[in-house]
Amino acid sequence: MSKPKMLGFISEEVSAWLVAFVALVVGGLLTALLALAASKLSQQQLAQRFELLANERYSRIEERMEDQVQRLDSLRRFFVYAQEITRDEFDGYVGPLLHRSQAYSWAPRVSAEQRAGFERQGRRLFGQDFSIREVGEGGVLQPSPARPLYYPVLFSQTLSQLPPPLGFDLLSQPLRRDTVQRASTPGSMAASAPLDLIGVAPAYTRGMLMVAPVFAAGASGGEPKGYVMAVLSMRQLMADGLPSAAEDNLVVRILDLSLPSGPESLFESGNQAAESSLQVRKVLHLADRTYQLDMSPSQEFLQDNRSSAMGVAFVGGLLSLLLSALLFSLFSQRQRALTLVEQRTAELRISEQSLRDTHNQLRSVLDAATQVAIIATDLHGVISTFNAGAERMLGYSAAEAVGKLTLESLLLPEEVQQRARSISLRFGREISGSQALLGDDLSAADQEPGEWTLRRKDGSLLPANMLVTAVLDEYGLWVGHLAICIDITERKRVHEALEARDRLLEKLTAQVPGGIYQFRLDPDGRSCFSYSSEGLRDIYEVEPELLRQDATTVFERIHPDDLVRVRSSIRDSAAQLTPWREEYRVNLPKAGVRWVRGEATPERLANGGTLWHGYLTDISDLKRVEEELRALSVTDSLTGIHNRRYFQERLKAELERAQRGGQDLAVIMLDIDHFKQINDHFGHAVGDLVLQSLCQRISNRLRRTDVFCRLGGEEFMVLCPGSNASQAHSLALELWQGVRSVPVEGVGRVTASFGVAGWRPGEGADALLLRADSGVYAAKQGGRDRVEAEQL
Ligand code: GH3
Ligand code: MG
Ligand code: MG
Repeated sequence: MSKPKMLGFISEEVSAWLVAFVALVVGGLLTALLALAASKLSQQQLAQRFELLANERYSRIEERMEDQVQRLDSLRRFFVYAQEITRDEFDGYVGPLLHRSQAYSWAPRVSAEQRAGFERQGRRLFGQDFSIREVGEGGVLQPSPARPLYYPVLFSQTLSQLPPPLGFDLLSQPLRRDTVQRASTPGSMAASAPLDLIGVAPAYTRGMLMVAPVFAAGASGGEPKGYVMAVLSMRQLMADGLPSAAEDNLVVRILDLSLPSGPESLFESGNQAAESSLQVRKVLHLADRTYQLDMSPSQEFLQDNRSSAMGVAFVGGLLSLLLSALLFSLFSQRQRALTLVEQRTAELRISEQSLRDTHNQLRSVLDAATQVAIIATDLHGVISTFNAGAERMLGYSAAEAVGKLTLESLLLPEEVQQRARSISLRFGREISGSQALLGDDLSAADQEPGEWTLRRKDGSLLPANMLVTAVLDEYGLWVGHLAICIDITERKRVHEALEARDRLLEKLTAQVPGGIYQFRLDPDGRSCFSYSSEGLRDIYEVEPELLRQDATTVFERIHPDDLVRVRSSIRDSAAQLTPWREEYRVNLPKAGVRWVRGEATPERLANGGTLWHGYLTDISDLKRVEEELRALSVTDSLTGIHNRRYFQERLKAELERAQRGGQDLAVIMLDIDHFKQINDHFGHAVGDLVLQSLCQRISNRLRRTDVFCRLGGEEFMVLCPGSNASQAHSLALELWQGVRSVPVEGVGRVTASFGVAGWRPGEGADALLLRADSGVYAAKQGGRDRVEAEQL
């Protein structure tokens, strides 16, 4: 499969990145264009809005100035048409006019001659300090020097808390005089240059005067009879009712253009101008003066009308980024999905191939398994697969069996029914024949094959092991059965032959005294009787089944004195593979101590262990007879004490022991005196009795360790292990006394002669006995009935 290509020529991996990048670039460009347009638009809007605002402000200011002119003119008319105006009439008229103006005043014309009368009249009205005054040193009002003409302020109505500058002569100060002189014709009106107002709150001092001359009604020239005057604070005029400087969108400045010295600022709004090219300049007229009104946008204005371009750029940029991320995610997901599909397809192809391989293998296995019949059926038991093994075993060809026969029809009906009956009984519900084929536990995975009888095509019967399992589909649903059968004719035959042999072995071993066994010794030291006949039960009083696992019990039964020997002989036999032969005692719970003889032949096992085949017999009776015989062979039949043979054995053994351990050893030899005479005198039988009697007495006096033997005739020997010559001598004296002190019944006193010899290191048996014999000889020579001391 060729890789899908997104844009025809680029691969999938690159495309997601590319699409995201293109989206980002296009989005960025669009955003930039949009931001530019928005910026332009907002510039335009800004200019429009500013212009609107400025025009509106201009008309408002113009209107206010107009209004002030109107008010002053109305006051003038009031004075023109009234004959005499009192202070109260003035106040009453002016009160409502005081709007956006600091004060209205009336200054009548006073000539030099009229000054005194005027001041008198003034003092009557206003108090003692009233006079015509002017601004002196330090801005303080002081009486003015004499001049030909005065226009002193007579009435003044003000909003200010400060006292009105009554008596202040308008002609006393150049700026005011100049203004008054400019308004000299009827109907004229003049405004002053910017000046500091008198009698006004400090915040409002910067302002101007607007004066209008009052002529008598109908007069067309001459001297005016006085001036009405409006005192205007620019701040009040400009700011009242308009936004405060901090909130104002406009920076406003008013310049007085009517000054000969050049323009002078009359008012500045005091807020910060924004950096902008926007500006509006207008010309205003108030009375006879011309003003220039400059307006530019304040920072406040720009802040309120901020351009949306940045916002557009930000949102647009963000959207482009999101769009490109979305596209990237979509494309890479698509790419992943494609990769996954590709992977899955490859996997499917592999698994399809392996399925085909498996199917072929299965077919080959089915056909190759000629010794095994493999038969598959559908749910109804009808055969669907019949392999070569089944053909061979049952005589049907696959074509004859598939789709035509059922599995059940290949079995003996009575066997199937019997199996069904027994399972029905166990489960308590009806079980059909075909279900019975599946065995006892339908759900068990490790079903054991059952033994069945199959019927061949020719009718002959065939014993077989058959395992029937349920065939499930991939959803775990039951779709049929699979039966695997193995011909067990041969196995059965072998089994029967083996059974017969076992029976034979059993019978034979039952006839054998004792038991036969197989004993295994593993390299790790564990041992067991892998086979043991029934006979072993009696020999060890252990169950043969127990021994099959572990031989420990047997070793516990072995007599402690023999155990080491038995173990070591087993080890030797295993090491050298020499036949094992041993006789030992066992300590049995019921029978007590018994003697056992065992013989076995070892062979090496593959794992390094050893396996013995052998037999065990109880030889207790034999041992007893043997011991009796042995006792007889070393006992003197007449006296019952040990005979010469035993003496010689013991002497040899004791000598070896003395040599090994450096112990003492001594012998006492005695010979009955004149025994021949006793025989002769009393008869041989009485002689025998004397021998028996003396032996009895001597035996009674001996210690348990002493060995008393009859060497022959009337000669005896006492072997004293652990005694030296002098101890033996003492014993000999005792014995001597014992013999001679009591007379033998019917015979009288019998005496004996004693010789003693203590063993000397390095000395042999003969030399020792010779010295004892020499002692006896010496005693005889010395007159008999005595103990001769040890001979040199
Ligand atoms: P001496 O004092 O020198 O030993 O004299 P004796 O007679 O004891 O010594 P001698 O060796 O001459 O005689 C031993 C006799 O003991 C000879 C033999 O008939 C007798 N005798 C040996 N064995 C037996 C026996 O078993 N029974 C009896 N009744 N007599 C025996
Ligand atoms: Mg003798
Ligand atoms: Mg004697």
